[in-house]
Amino acid sequence: MKKRLPQCTLILILALSLVSGITAGCQTERTADDSGELRVVTSFLPIYIFTLNLVEGIDGIRVVNMAAPDIGCLHEYQLLPGDMVELEAADIFIFNGAGMESFLEVLADRRDLVKIEASSGIQLLPLDENHGHIDADGETLNHDHEVNAHVWLSVRLAIQQVKNISLGLQHADPKHAEMYQRNEAAYIDRLADLDRLYRETLDKVAIRKIITFHDAFPYLAKEYGLTVVAVIQREPGREPSTAELAETIDIIRSEDVQVLFVEPQYSGRAADTLAAETGASVYTLNPVVTGDAGALTYEQVMMDNLDVLKLAL
Ligand SMILES: [Zn+2]
Ligand SMILES: [Zn+2]
Repeated sequence: MKKRLPQCTLILILALSLVSGITAGCQTERTADDSGELRVVTSFLPIYIFTLNLVEGIDGIRVVNMAAPDIGCLHEYQLLPGDMVELEAADIFIFNGAGMESFLEVLADRRDLVKIEASSGIQLLPLDENHGHIDADGETLNHDHEVNAHVWLSVRLAIQQVKNISLGLQHADPKHAEMYQRNEAAYIDRLADLDRLYRETLDKVAIRKIITFHDAFPYLAKEYGLTVVAVIQREPGREPSTAELAETIDIIRSEDVQVLFVEPQYSGRAADTLAAETGASVYTLNPVVTGDAGALTYEQVMMDNLDVLKLAL
């Protein structure tokens, strides 16, 4: 619902704001535009999928996902110039929270931007104690995301996220409140079925100790009675060191772990090494951070994950 600035002005403002560290939002005059289109930007795939389901059939709302389809989790993600342009034009920004979007301070001055945090009010789990960043000199870096961000992989908590997003949209766009509520109810019905199926299926499995690739599955594990005894890749994007691999091999042996789960977003090389050393089997779990950007993707991928878990455990 904004007057479109001439492209060159917008780029100039963005350039200035990037240099000065001040976001463009507080420097521009806002006037409602004739179309009245509400522009929503979501941070990454799961939040985009949840939002798509909530805006189904509602006119005058456009939802754009910020992260490119191959980005995956937003760990260490830095905003690109194109993201800044999207956010500058946005009325609403919907994000996971829980430390997933480390760039949020860039938007702190954007008082005109409605920000909806999907994880608001959800009890968060701490990061795995082995989690750490290591810089080029091999020194461990301190950082401020002390909680685990992968809330959406518990279907029960995904439902909570959908409710939070729906509430935020109803506040920001009250004339469609009833439609958001209707969409929310229909989507949550389906997600509740999925949650029930997870509970029924994972109630019966024989194996409960698992090792996953990155630290994406503690909410899923806690929800459905599994234990993640180790994570192969301590920090997403960094191959495990020889020492870390040796440590994981020790854990596999001492805890008698029989299954390892890799992720389609990352190379499975380290897991193959671990499997060859220990005889553990390797399966693939998908944290739903890349893939088809359709409204049904979360449910489809989580069903595939459940089939894999049933087979593996
Ligand atoms: Zn992640
Ligand atoms: Zn970290």
